[in-house]
Amino acid sequence: MNAALKLPLPAPTLDADRLAQLAALTSGLSSADLYWIAAYSAALAARLPEQAGRIVVSESSVAEVGQTAGCLSIVYGSQTGNSRRVAEQLAARAEAAGLTVRLLRTGVYPVRELAQERHLVVVISSQGDGDPPDDAIGFIEFIAGKRAPKLPLLKFAVLGLGDSSYPKFCAVSRELDARLIELGASRFAPAGEADVDFDTTAAEWSAGVLETAREGLSVPNAPTRHASPLHAVSASPHYSRDNPFPASVLENQRIVSRDSDRDVRHIELSLEGSGLQYEPGDAIGVWPRNPPMLVEQWLSALKLDGTVEVEHDGRRLPLARWLSHERELTRLTRPLVAAQAAATRHGELQRVLEPGQQPAFAALLESHQPIDLLRQFPAAWDATRLVATLRPLTPRLYSIASSARVVGSDEVHLTVGVVEYFAHQSTHYGAASAFLANAGDDVPVPVFIESNERFRLPIDGSRDVIMIGPGTGIAPFRAFVQERQATAASGRNWLFFGNRHFTQDFLYQLEWQEALHSGALHRLDLTFSRDAASKVYVQQRLREHGRELYAWLRDGAHIYVCGDSAHMARDVNEALLDIIATHGGLSVEDARAWLTELLQQGRYARDVY
Ligand code: NAP
Repeated sequence: MNAALKLPLPAPTLDADRLAQLAALTSGLSSADLYWIAAYSAALAARLPEQAGRIVVSESSVAEVGQTAGCLSIVYGSQTGNSRRVAEQLAARAEAAGLTVRLLRTGVYPVRELAQERHLVVVISSQGDGDPPDDAIGFIEFIAGKRAPKLPLLKFAVLGLGDSSYPKFCAVSRELDARLIELGASRFAPAGEADVDFDTTAAEWSAGVLETAREGLSVPNAPTRHASPLHAVSASPHYSRDNPFPASVLENQRIVSRDSDRDVRHIELSLEGSGLQYEPGDAIGVWPRNPPMLVEQWLSALKLDGTVEVEHDGRRLPLARWLSHERELTRLTRPLVAAQAAATRHGELQRVLEPGQQPAFAALLESHQPIDLLRQFPAAWDATRLVATLRPLTPRLYSIASSARVVGSDEVHLTVGVVEYFAHQSTHYGAASAFLANAGDDVPVPVFIESNERFRLPIDGSRDVIMIGPGTGIAPFRAFVQERQATAASGRNWLFFGNRHFTQDFLYQLEWQEALHSGALHRLDLTFSRDAASKVYVQQRLREHGRELYAWLRDGAHIYVCGDSAHMARDVNEALLDIIATHGGLSVEDARAWLTELLQQGRYARDVY
């Protein structure tokens, strides 16, 4: 590293790649040259606020900002972009209200300066089993740990985003809220909890927070300023989550063999005329429609007429339309179980809702869709109460499987595992995958781009890249390899893939073989879990090649994991810890710190849910 970077500056906010580039650029320059670069950067930084299309995301430290008293700090921990969106909206409203605001993501929040905060808002999501977003691991660990300072002067408010179809709903925000109280801080607004249809709850909670923050900060006519604008975010495109683009289907092809027990589709959508742009690592959001057969099953189970008009939230639609386009029918949630338990007074349902019955409740959510409950525990529902009780349908995210440089910016490719299984005497479907599997010429797919800045290829193309993507987790790595080939990146690409059977489920087999042949892919390690007597998963392949894998990492490789978060991503993480401890000669604790450092540098990135 360049000697200049060891000067007593604030912690660098650049990632490892950028730092390396900066070190290479400044190495051997005269002091005159270095002063010129400093002046040039300062001029660039000064111009950024004028260029900003919307709120500017600060990645600075308190030291650069000056002091935090009189300032509302809004910190977000986001995995799929929802917490970021809520935090950005709150920051924009707070600024418009005349408050001094700084907005930071948890990954760059300078935790050692927490003690100087006076007004802090945290918007943070909980993943599947109550885990924080990857970007927030360091932030949460610091606050939960022994080094956390006492915070008697801090006033805070926490909003949790979660999914009530998981048992540990909003676990991260609940624990954070409790821990801040334990450290002596006080709430200036009650903790909020928002489900997947977070918009309304988040907007109401934000309005309350803003009201109290304005009183607390009492700066009614203060000039609006960003605490530290560092980079501009481009203006929103015309099409967005709330205004999706109707994409037509160009290709919808099954990519597993006919005798596979799974259905996996390669889907190509046209973005022509949308102005939407994407980078490898981004996801596409799909607003699904529920399968017509499932809507029929609901109407029949509840003995309701689909043509009946139902008014809700100022809109009047036929019940069948509410059920197909507007309401969540495939995921069971606690509010729905509670409503059904109250309506039926059935002991079994009431019992799973009791405190201490978490495992039984989790098992119910895991094994039942709402329709199963309606059939097993019949109750009378009227159409209006049904629409008001059910959760609004929300978009599903799919990792993009193409590079726009290769397929053209008017196209986007997806890899979709179709959820379809038989249980409780009937076939069950996943909402979005069934919608996409049946998508064709006649029905456009409403889509938007969900950018994922945490899951990016290294800027320095000479870096090596290790990709671990079992099952449909392979999707972003197809985009990565296409991109690395298109940009003539000189670093090596190593892919680990696993699925059930070699002959049936080797997704994109021909493309990988061609990539190996052309040199776009340097290594491919495979495992097919159901071809042998005992199961071998990708993490075993990682261990088998542990020495080499560690050498790649030690020499600066970036490592990526995509796919199932519940089991695979945890097991892969354990395997990486073992590999680093064994081949790096480290204790388990030091190996953990090494891997966390990699995560914080953005060299270990996971796209799992
Ligand atoms: P899958 O069911 O996850 O199975 C893929 C392979 O992984 C199978 O061979 C499976 O073996 C094996 N496997 C099972 N448990 C494992 C473990 N603990 N560690 C490592 N491998 C394990 O494949 P899929 O149906 O294509 O699903 C992929 C998952 O990834 C889904 O949950 C999907 O939602 C998620 N996904 C997430 C993203 C994202 O977050 N961006 C993108 C794509 C997919 P057996 O079945 O034989 O045990």
